[in-house]
Amino acid sequence: MRSVVLYGFMGAGKTAVGEELGRRLGWPVLDTDRMVEERAGKAVARVFDEDGEAHFRRLEREAIEDACRVRPAVVACGGGAVLDPQNAALLRSCGHMVWLRASLEPLVARAASADRPLLRGDARSRAAALLEARTPRYAALADVVVDTDGLDVRQVADRVLQALLEREARAVSVQAGPGVYTVWVGEGVLPLLGLELARAEVRAAALLTHPRLWRLYGEGLVRCLGAWGVEALPVLVPPGERTKSLGAAARVYARMAQAGMDRTCAVASLGGGVVGDLGGFVAGTYMRGVRFFQLPTTLLAQVDASVGGKAAVNAAARNLVGVFWQPQAVVADVATLRTLPARELRAGLAECVKHGAIRDAGLLEWTDRELSALLGRRADRLAELVARNVAVKAEVVRQDEREEAGVREVLNFGHTVAHALEAATGYRVYLHGEAVAVGVVAEAELGRRLGITDPSVPDVLRSLLERAGLPTRLPAVPAQTLLEFMRLDKKRRAGRLRFALVESLGRARAGVEVSEELVGSVLKDLGADG
Ligand code: NAD
Ligand code: MG
Repeated sequence: MRSVVLYGFMGAGKTAVGEELGRRLGWPVLDTDRMVEERAGKAVARVFDEDGEAHFRRLEREAIEDACRVRPAVVACGGGAVLDPQNAALLRSCGHMVWLRASLEPLVARAASADRPLLRGDARSRAAALLEARTPRYAALADVVVDTDGLDVRQVADRVLQALLEREARAVSVQAGPGVYTVWVGEGVLPLLGLELARAEVRAAALLTHPRLWRLYGEGLVRCLGAWGVEALPVLVPPGERTKSLGAAARVYARMAQAGMDRTCAVASLGGGVVGDLGGFVAGTYMRGVRFFQLPTTLLAQVDASVGGKAAVNAAARNLVGVFWQPQAVVADVATLRTLPARELRAGLAECVKHGAIRDAGLLEWTDRELSALLGRRADRLAELVARNVAVKAEVVRQDEREEAGVREVLNFGHTVAHALEAATGYRVYLHGEAVAVGVVAEAELGRRLGITDPSVPDVLRSLLERAGLPTRLPAVPAQTLLEFMRLDKKRRAGRLRFALVESLGRARAGVEVSEELVGSVLKDLGADG
């Protein structure tokens, strides 16, 4: 994420607002006047008096250069600093230029409380002249203008943060049922959860996460939320599918109840689909439902699990007990994907390939072209990938939130085979996305044999998945075993198996019934035992 550069006339509140922003974002605050004072060993006024303005400007330039080396940071600049074109160019290259604009009277009142060398003498008329001279130059530099008159420091900070969120994150709206919420996607946007919590007037939230993610992201986030006035109760659960259980949910309820959380509180999940599902389930059931926020940190959770409002835990079968419970907001920070194990990243890509195949041929082509940048975790590409995939899933969910109209079933492309493969291998061999990769190829091939899928599709999908490092063939498990698991699938009707199949890239059809013989022969051709 880019830094924030605050500038404006002396007395506009740059220092105080800078500190508030630093606390809320968890970023260092670099105040160039203070840096000059440290360097010179005396107050700015004395540098002016004893060494002259030219010397002050030299020190100020050095301070700006140093400040621009720290990223991201909140940089608060002296009022004259940005007037120098070289300073302005440096600052613009490191961050968003935020002009804190104020009118004359409040400026004079606030500026009078300190010794300002440029306002000595008749402060009011000197300030008026300076303000008039500087205003057009400040205006020309601004990416964001915040009018500060009548606002306190926190209110000004709120506006700066809102602007920052809009500039740094892509917003994808998800309409599910009667409600609409935003998925924010960007690099370093995690602390902006505070904006959403503040907007929802949440004062306390349970933050559900795993110990490793707590250390990496949770601790810092909770500090930032404190600055937003939100108290966060960390609830740490072990990683792994076993955490999606009624027992684990009961332990979370107990922690929340002990902490006195009532219906005004919220649940936030920081992690992959496991904490996403557990958190959604807890939020949807604790005291008959509290508000829910998602901070997905796996690619799979960012592009898939955090969109659509399904939340379930495993009981006698996988995802047996659950709710539809939409979040208030989702903040997908692609910077968190840097620490994700490579295998998990690749697994998430399988769902992206599926999304492209069923709904967005352009996305599929783009993913193919950008594959090495994506595997190399380039933040801008990951943000585009996530935003575009969220849009695909959101559109499907909008048409059929509760899987009643048959539209949502297209998301199951690749999954009938994938679920059987996961089950037949005891859920120990394949990550879900890996099984989906095999399933996508198998079901594309099935569609081709049925004459539903364009003959070029299986090879296109296979080649992309292989280059993404994903499996595309079945292991030597008996085809009969896979078929047995498919018969248990919810989507089966009257002895025939039901599939969502691709017609051509970007178009899919749900509810296609296929005979077991044909499915069996495709499975064998892809490596299953006869
Ligand atoms: P996961 O939640 O198990 O996370 C995978 C692993 O990566 C975990 O060990 C986790 O601790 C670790 N991890 C997560 N983020 C990390 C990061 N940024 N850096 C380092 N390590 C990180 O796996 P998943 O693939 O995200 O989710 C799978 C679950 O999602 C399944 O239970 C599945 O049923 C569910 N799911 C739900 C939906 C839905 O619509 N609700 C959709 C798809 C999948
Ligand atoms: Mg899936």
